[in-house]
Amino acid sequence: MTDAAELKRRTAELLAAYPPATTDRLDFLRARFDAGLAWVHYPEGLGGLGAPRSLQAVVDAELEAAGAPDNDPRRIGIGLGMAAPTILKYGTDEQKQRFLRPLWTGEEVWCQLFSEPGAGSDLAALGTRAVREGEDWVVNGQKVWTSSAHLARWAILIARTDPDVPKHAGITYFLCDMTDPGIEVRPLRQITGEAEFNEVFITDVRIPDSRRLGEIGDGWRVAQTTLNNERVAIGGMRLPREGGMIAPAAKTWRERPELRTHDLHQRLLKLWVDSEVSRLTAERLRQQLVAGQPGPEGAGMKLAFARLNQEISGLEVELRGEEGLLYDDWTMRRPELVDFTGRDAGYRYLRSKGNSIEGGTTEILLNIVAERVLGLPAEPRTDKDVAWKDLAR
Ligand SMILES: Cc1cc2nc3c(=O)[nH]c(=O)nc-3n(C[C@H](O)[C@H](O)[C@H](O)COP(=O)(O)OP(=O)(O)OC[C@H]3O[C@@H](n4cnc5c(N)ncnc54)[C@H](O)[C@@H]3O)c2cc1C
Repeated sequence: MTDAAELKRRTAELLAAYPPATTDRLDFLRARFDAGLAWVHYPEGLGGLGAPRSLQAVVDAELEAAGAPDNDPRRIGIGLGMAAPTILKYGTDEQKQRFLRPLWTGEEVWCQLFSEPGAGSDLAALGTRAVREGEDWVVNGQKVWTSSAHLARWAILIARTDPDVPKHAGITYFLCDMTDPGIEVRPLRQITGEAEFNEVFITDVRIPDSRRLGEIGDGWRVAQTTLNNERVAIGGMRLPREGGMIAPAAKTWRERPELRTHDLHQRLLKLWVDSEVSRLTAERLRQQLVAGQPGPEGAGMKLAFARLNQEISGLEVELRGEEGLLYDDWTMRRPELVDFTGRDAGYRYLRSKGNSIEGGTTEILLNIVAERVLGLPAEPRTDKDVAWKDLAR
C-alpha cells in the first residue's frame, strides 16, 4: 500500500538522486515519471504507483518546496487532461508505453481534432472520413477550432469509418501524427487578437491501424472519456483560496480604493463567495474521482466556471471604468499556452467569452446535467435510427 509516508520517502529519494538545482529540467521530469511520481494514481511503469489520486498533492508539495521544475501543465493541458486518460483506459500496452511518458514530460504536445465546421455541439454528425486500406486508414476531412494544433506533435482524432449506420455507431478514434505531410494547420484569429486555435485540413493522411484507440465503430464511447475529462480539466482545476479569475478582480479592489462603489462591492462579495463554493465543489469532485473516471457531473463544474469567469471579468472591466476598455496589444500572437486569467482586464473579459463554448457550450452542458444527472426527460432525437449518409446536412 502506497501511503503518504511512502510517497514522501520516494520523493526524497528522487530529489537526492536528481537535485533540481543541478539537474537538467527534462532529465528531472523523466526521472520523476520513471519513479512513479508523475501521476501517482496511474499504474506502475506508466508514471504512477497505483496510489490514491488524492495523494498527488503530497508529492507536488514536497517537490515545490524543493524548487523542482514542473511539466508546465498549462502548455500541455489537452495531453494531460484529455488524451492521457483516454489512452490509459482504451490504449494497448504498446500505445501506453509509447505515448504517456513524452506526453507527461511535455516533450510531445497534443491537440484535439474533434470539432468540424458542420459538427460542434452535434459532434456525432462529423464527416471526416477514414477508409481502411490494408494495414492503414486513409483519412480526409476538415477540423476546426483546434487549440494548439500549431504546436502539437500528436492529435486525438475522431473520424467516420462507417457512413451506413446511425451517426453515433460509425465513428472510430485514432491517434494522429501532426507531422504527416497531409496535415495543414492554418491559424484562426480570436476575439482577443490571438490565434490560440486553428483550422486543420486532413488530406490522404495514412494512420496505421496500430494507432486506432478502441474498437472500430466504438469511437463515440471512447470520445466520452475524453469529453468528460475535458470538462473536469477546464472547470475543475485545483486552485488556492481566492485563486482563478477572482484573484485579479479582488486585487484591483484592494489596491484601487478610488474605484470602489457600494453596488460593485455587493456584487464582488457575491462573486467571491460563489468562487469559493465552486472551488470547494471542484475539490469534492476531485475526491470522488479517486474512485474512477469522471461522469457527467463534470459538466456542472464547467458550467459554473464559465459563468463565474464571464461575470467576474465583466465586473473588473466595469470597476476600472474607461481604463477597463483599454487593451494591451492587438498583435496576432500564437500563444504557447492557454492562459484564461493572464494579461490585462480587457484580455480576461474577451478570453472568457470562449469559456462558455469550449469543451461543450453552456446550453449543451445544461442538457447533459438535466438528462444524465437530474434524470429529466430527454430532448426528442429524430436521427437516432437513421444511417449517417441519409441525414440532412
Ligand atoms: C477557445 C476555444 C477552443 C476550442 N478548442 C477546441 C479544440 O481544441 N478541439 C476541438 O475539437 N474543438 C475545440 N473547440 C470547439 C468547441 O468544442 C465548439 O465550438 C463547441 O462544441 C460548439 O460547437 P460549434 O462552435 O459548432 O457551435 P454550434 O454547435 O453550431 O452551436 C451554436 C449555438 O447553438 C446552440 N445549440 C446547439 N445545439 C443545441 C441544442 N441541442 N440545444 C440548445 N442549444 C443548442 C449552442 O449552445 C450554441 O450557442 C474550441 C472552441 C473554443 C471557443
